[in-house]
Amino acid sequence: MDAQTARFIFLFLDGVGLGAAKATNPLAAIAAMPFLTELLGGPLVAGQTTHQAQVLCQAIDATLGVPGLPQSATGQTALFTGCNAPAFLGRHQSAFANGSLRTLIAAHGMFQQVLQLGGAVTHANLYSPAYFEAIAQRRRRYSVGTLLALTAGVPFRMGGESDRQQAISWDITGEYVNQRGGKLLPLTAAEAGQRLAAIASQHHLTLFECYLPDYAGHSQDKAQVMQVLQLVDAFIASIVAHLPPHLNLVISSDHGNIEESWHPHHTLNPVPLIVIGPQAIAFQSVQDITGITPKIVELLQLSSNALPSLNYAL
Ligand SMILES: [Zn+2]
Repeated sequence: MDAQTARFIFLFLDGVGLGAAKATNPLAAIAAMPFLTELLGGPLVAGQTTHQAQVLCQAIDATLGVPGLPQSATGQTALFTGCNAPAFLGRHQSAFANGSLRTLIAAHGMFQQVLQLGGAVTHANLYSPAYFEAIAQRRRRYSVGTLLALTAGVPFRMGGESDRQQAISWDITGEYVNQRGGKLLPLTAAEAGQRLAAIASQHHLTLFECYLPDYAGHSQDKAQVMQVLQLVDAFIASIVAHLPPHLNLVISSDHGNIEESWHPHHTLNPVPLIVIGPQAIAFQSVQDITGITPKIVELLQLSSNALPSLNYAL
């Protein structure tokens, strides 16, 4: 494998904004995210900007010029396609992707774009037959990330015996899912991070989606908020500890929420863009959540002569 080949993990954290550095912001406490705080040179709050050779952190806009609070379906579509989804719909749309967002995802999804360059992509999240049964029975609707993989023909990691070690539950450890009747083999955050780095070493672009921060933010439960932030921080620490030298970890969010967990609503705050790896500084030009997919695709294009050297492996 060519050492020059750019590779990326996109760690999507739902509902993490950059709020004011005051005591009510759980992210202002060093105990919330000790690894990230040390790495970035300060807590993940408004004004925390880091531009080092291998570590970038900056605020990017999630409102995209559309009035109202940013929401998940349009925010995730913007992140994963590079399109201004709320402007396309004329509003911010919550939760799940409807028909017209699906057309944007099918045409401009980042998996599709990287596949067209000859790259290998994967969705590292664990899926279950029950999820797809619920969709077939119209009890659930597709998430943006699911549509991203589905429309690009990227196989889902279904959690059978053979690939149970090859996927990560959206809640990182499986604890949240198991408390609600799931039967997952529990992982520690450290094990999950190591697993994600191993999956990513076989692909040019690996997506992992974690919704815990948004759930915790909506819950307004201080203990849960702190527990989730610490879990996510330990997960990130483990990914970074196991990151091959040519791989970049890109972390961002669709809208703010957990940084103002004293109320149950999303926020207008910018969201963090954190990039750890050799291409980190190239992301300095990204201004808002539509800028991440085009930047990843551009950087893969620049090294696209090396793309065919990577064998596709799920
Ligand atoms: Zn939410």
